[in-house]
Amino acid sequence: MLKITNNKIIRLKKISSTQDYAKIIADKSDEGTIIITEIQTKGRGRYERKWDSQKGGLYFSIILKPQININKTFILTYKMALAILDTLKYFVNKTELKLFLKWPNDIVIKCNNKYKKISGILTESSIKKNKINWIVIGIGINANNKLPKSLNHIAISLKEITKRNIKIEFIFSSLIKHFEKYYNKYPTNKVMEKYRENSIIPEVPITFINNQNKYTGKIRKIRNDGGIELTLSDRTKTIFYSGDVVLS
Ligand code: ATP
Repeated sequence: MLKITNNKIIRLKKISSTQDYAKIIADKSDEGTIIITEIQTKGRGRYERKWDSQKGGLYFSIILKPQININKTFILTYKMALAILDTLKYFVNKTELKLFLKWPNDIVIKCNNKYKKISGILTESSIKKNKINWIVIGIGINANNKLPKSLNHIAISLKEITKRNIKIEFIFSSLIKHFEKYYNKYPTNKVMEKYRENSIIPEVPITFINNQNKYTGKIRKIRNDGGIELTLSDRTKTIFYSGDVVLS
């Protein structure tokens, strides 16, 4: 059972990356240890992309040691995505805007027919002798932080949506409670069902990028094994387990 208690939370003012810090201490740390910071100077997303982390946002990484098969690690990203969704829905549902999940690791908001990212998840793991040694999940949520102009067309903060400051501690504690719920109690099929229900699955073809190759196709479904199934323009069916969905 995952139980996150106050004594497992390491609170910092500023750090290069909570993810890098967590990975250094992961071997010797208990499950549920969290590194949370006010500012990251080198926050990152997948494939070493930069995650802008100015003061006012929620930035943390959590160390997990689940006893699951190594090919089931994807489920933890999806459990965290659902926990973030539940947390943010509490605030966003009071507006006319709607939250969605964008495969595999983003939480976005639909505004003016465009999807803007409010939160991202980065999952990294260490495997030893075919067993999970640890998994570190990093979370960035745009709460009250400013975003650079260069990201205005793709990113948004909770403050921009709700027009008010929401206490970071409140968002954090709510997210932890929701994550404990999904981690401890939700089986894979239930998680995937809920993940699918909240995902963007456009009717029109999308561009998919995998290992620098570009594909055009329609998303058929998100599978219980974590993959995304596409029908490509030449009608072949393809399953991807990593990559980027680009929405027009
Ligand atoms: P995409 O949204 O293109 O699918 P991704 O899911 O791979 O990207 P990550 O790699 O997790 O995204 O995050 C890094 C990307 O997110 C950056 O390249 C940038 O475009 C965008 N980004 C950076 N900082 C923020 C932020 N604070 N809020 C929203 N988006 C951000």
